[in-house]
Amino acid sequence: MVEGWNVEGVAVGKTRARFLYTTIPYHLFFVDGLLVDTGPLSLHREIEPFLAGLPIEQVVLTHLHEDHCGLASWLAGLGVPIFCPEVSLPEAAREPRLPLYRRLTWGRRPAFPASPLTDTVRTEHHEFQVVRAPGHTPRHVLFYEAEHGWLFTGDFFLSARPKVVFMEEDLAATLDSLKRIETLGVRLLFDAHAGPLYGGARLLARKRAFLEELGGRVAALRREGLDDRAIDRRLFPHRPAITFVSRGEWSSLRMVQTAPVPEGARRDPSRERPGEDSKPG
Ligand SMILES: [Zn+2]
Repeated sequence: MVEGWNVEGVAVGKTRARFLYTTIPYHLFFVDGLLVDTGPLSLHREIEPFLAGLPIEQVVLTHLHEDHCGLASWLAGLGVPIFCPEVSLPEAAREPRLPLYRRLTWGRRPAFPASPLTDTVRTEHHEFQVVRAPGHTPRHVLFYEAEHGWLFTGDFFLSARPKVVFMEEDLAATLDSLKRIETLGVRLLFDAHAGPLYGGARLLARKRAFLEELGGRVAALRREGLDDRAIDRRLFPHRPAITFVSRGEWSSLRMVQTAPVPEGARRDPSRERPGEDSKPG
């Protein structure tokens, strides 16, 4: 069953998907005719009656992972317009081949017809700025409502201190995106898995600090001569079950590989003389 409640006029619906011996929460967000992401196909028996009770006029998608748009095909069939970033339109039009663990958890992601998002999404009482935020995926977008300080983040945030990231994540890109959205003054963050979170700006700043610290530690260990696998073992000695089950799609190694390189650790080729090793500064 979908557990429903209301946060500042935003209808929240919480569901859970079974994964191994545990469950993963997923939150639906609906406001003023607008549904942000659809939820997964695997939970259609509970999500469909919940969504059928809402006057959905349009659906916007943060990114095209199957837990976020597994029901887009069903909604499009009901005549609801679906919007996603223009660069993602070809991806929407075909069904991806998903690994078994993802199909078991979230279900298939059928192809669906979509229209391109523009810079803003308007509803009767709100205006949402579409913010490009590469990180979790290169094409991820966020929806920002300036008047209330709401930010709908899909999978961009997830946690201020992640222990694993998805194979498409680029933490250097995540950090760049965080720096850009810092100025927005986010008050309330709507995260698809963590749910509605107050203190948005503080949480985003905490994630930024974590990524900068991680980047510094990775750079220091690289200067000691460790390769990324050795750094991964040093910084993340505990290997979570999801890394095995997903065959490395979710890993801490990906965090090491894409950790932001600190300013000071960036090589300046003009200052390096041939034959001379660059010394750690
Ligand atoms: Zn995702």
